[in-house]
Amino acid sequence: MSTPDAIVVGAGPNGLAAAVTLARAGLAVELYERAPTVGGGARTAATTDPGFLHDLGSAVHPMALASPFFRAFGIEQRVDFVVPEISYAHPLDGAGGAMRAGLAWRELDRAAAELGRDGRAWHRLFAPLVRESDALLDIVGDTLLRLPRHPLTLARFGLRSLEQGGPAWNLRFRDETAPAMLGGLAAHAAGRMPHPVRAGAGLLLGALAHARGWPIPVGGSQAISDALAADFVAHGGRIHLDAEVADVRELPAARAVLLDVAAPIAARIAAGRIPDASRRRLARVRFGAGVFRLDLAVSAPIPWRDTRIGGAGTVHLGGTRSRIAEAERRTPNGLPPHPFVLLSQPTLFDPSRAPAGRHTVWAYTHVPAGSAVDAEEAILATIEAAAPGFRDTIIARASRTAPQLEQENPSLIGGDISGGLIDVRQTVFRPRARTPWAIGDGVYLASSSAAPGPGVNGLAGWRAALSALGREFGLPAPGLGAEPG
Ligand SMILES: Cc1cc2nc3c(=O)[nH]c(=O)nc-3n(C[C@H](O)[C@H](O)[C@H](O)COP(=O)(O)OP(=O)(O)OC[C@H]3O[C@@H](n4cnc5c(N)ncnc54)[C@H](O)[C@@H]3O)c2cc1C
Repeated sequence: MSTPDAIVVGAGPNGLAAAVTLARAGLAVELYERAPTVGGGARTAATTDPGFLHDLGSAVHPMALASPFFRAFGIEQRVDFVVPEISYAHPLDGAGGAMRAGLAWRELDRAAAELGRDGRAWHRLFAPLVRESDALLDIVGDTLLRLPRHPLTLARFGLRSLEQGGPAWNLRFRDETAPAMLGGLAAHAAGRMPHPVRAGAGLLLGALAHARGWPIPVGGSQAISDALAADFVAHGGRIHLDAEVADVRELPAARAVLLDVAAPIAARIAAGRIPDASRRRLARVRFGAGVFRLDLAVSAPIPWRDTRIGGAGTVHLGGTRSRIAEAERRTPNGLPPHPFVLLSQPTLFDPSRAPAGRHTVWAYTHVPAGSAVDAEEAILATIEAAAPGFRDTIIARASRTAPQLEQENPSLIGGDISGGLIDVRQTVFRPRARTPWAIGDGVYLASSSAAPGPGVNGLAGWRAALSALGREFGLPAPGLGAEPG
């Protein structure tokens, strides 16, 4: 067997993006994945009853259509997506026991109009970010250490992030709905709020909600991973499944090794090939709260008190912004009494994932790092409060505690799904300053622990591969587009 030019360890979206990029440049590439299937945090499987397909990691894909990598890859020509008219809904208790949700219509004007006297402020907050969302992704989808190519966009985004992530976060709005919606967005990144980086992450998600929307891949997130794997194999790549790598020195010698694993795992398995200082830096990356995931097979759509929520792909449950902030503040010490729950109802848009008339629900909440706490009852109670009668529709359920998630994918350290805590230092340096993806001679960190961080966007893998192509092989970026079929 011939020696590969490059090896990729880990077949998550970033590892697959790296593998595709290297193979398309004409290199012989081998990909090693410890699990029996490709996809890492973008996989789909029948975890409850037969016929019900559940996303094991990502369900909501704000970056799928917007990521510069996926745009170059032509993901829309390879995977069918449904883009809900309402990107996310945020139920809130109103006067007299009524429930009225904040609705993030894709159409910004409509979303703003429904926010009443806060509509104009919502529009002013998001309109420039929506208009410049591609430029914004160009900035935040790279390492923040590069000189910004769109300084005005960066300034607008930075000022808004500081405002929404600082003590003045409530001054812009008069009612509770808009701040609650912003709180739900920011809480995608676990941790205390207000916080400028988490607010920035939330604003980016919020801008995408009104730009390209939050698409749902038909068949589940696995469809994205499978499209990447198919392209890799079509370009000569070889995938080894059930192949856990304990030490990269045991692999065939290759000029470039790209690691799509969490930073501390990279430190361990590449210890013999990277400088000691680099190893220590990787091992020091801090991780945040874990996640408890609940998969439900149900007999009917969720009976939301505000029926308009049925038009949203994603639902943020956690009440007002101050209540979400309180939940996030308490999480490191235990499950808060009113947890923030992130929920997706994919089968309302993609019925292929459940038997006729039946549905799946995907939900998770934050838990203390590494905690085996069972949050199932807390999640169910939170949904039931916004949708009375919901429990009666449950046919089957499956759940994963934070340690179980880590057992299934060791990159989810302590159940952290972000590749490391989202804070200022780790977002800017994430986790190396000078050469963002190179961690040693011919060795690259290509996972969400590297810039630009978490989400199914393929960017860390793509950028690491481009860096390796240039530095190790003197090759330019290859074209990635789907060939006309
Ligand atoms: C419950 C949950 C919900 C999420 N929700 C969303 C969402 O809605 N939207 C979104 O965009 N993102 C979401 N994410 C985050 C998203 O899944 C990750 O950001 C993304 O998968 C990171 O991609 P990656 O390729 O860097 O790493 P991963 O997807 O974690 O892939 C790493 C791969 O490396 C493999 N591996 C680890 N160690 C070794 C080894 N020693 N040898 C060989 N292989 C190894 C693992 O098995 C895994 O397949 C969620 C994640 C989880 C877990």
